[in-house]
Formats: sequence, structure tokens, C-alpha cells
Amino acid sequence: MLTLKCPYCGVQAEETELHAGGEAHLTRFGPDSSDDDFETYLFTRENPKGVHFERWRHSHGCGKWFHAARCTMTLEVFGTYPAQTTEPPQDIRDAITAKRPGWTWREFS
Ligand SMILES: [Zn+2]
Repeated sequence: MLTLKCPYCGVQAEETELHAGGEAHLTRFGPDSSDDDFETYLFTRENPKGVHFERWRHSHGCGKWFHAARCTMTLEVFGTYPAQTTEPPQDIRDAITAKRPGWTWREFS
């Protein structure tokens, strides 16, 4: 079972206590953007076999949204961090690189 530590209240929560919110670090485009950018924002998502960054809500706890870095193949969790960040903290990126040599952080804009 997947367990994630809520970065706000510190609870190690099981998946059933959480609500998945999809991919983290999306580039948001509003109604004034081009049709292609808006369509990408609405419908295009990563579906990696490996390291992935996701949004989760501690729905049966403090109720706050946070981000998690985990491997979709092994369910290994590299870390969780507050949702109000534009990219993963360096310590989480370092933890991923240590366990997945050759892994590269994709650029988010
Ligand atoms: Zn919490």
C-alpha cells in the first residue's frame, strides 16, 4: 500500500486517507492563451514509467494539498513537500538522483 507523509501535519497517511489530484507542476494557461496551450493545459499529462510528481490532498486529515515524488513502478516515495512550490526541493531531487542515476529533472516553465 502506498503511504505518504503529509508535509503539513507530519502524519504518515495511507492511500485511503488521501485523495489523488493528478500531475504536479503543471504550467497553467488561461483563456487568453492560444488554443494549443490551453488544450495542453487541460488534457495533456505525463504518464511516466518511473519517477513522477503528483498532487495529493490529506483529505481525512488536515485537508491540505501537497506534492509527492514517487516511482510509479515500485511505489517508492522520494519525498513530499508543500504544494506552493514551483519545482521539487533540491534535497528530493538529490534523493532521486542517488537512487536513479541518470535521472534528469525536466524543465518546468
Ligand atoms: Zn496533513
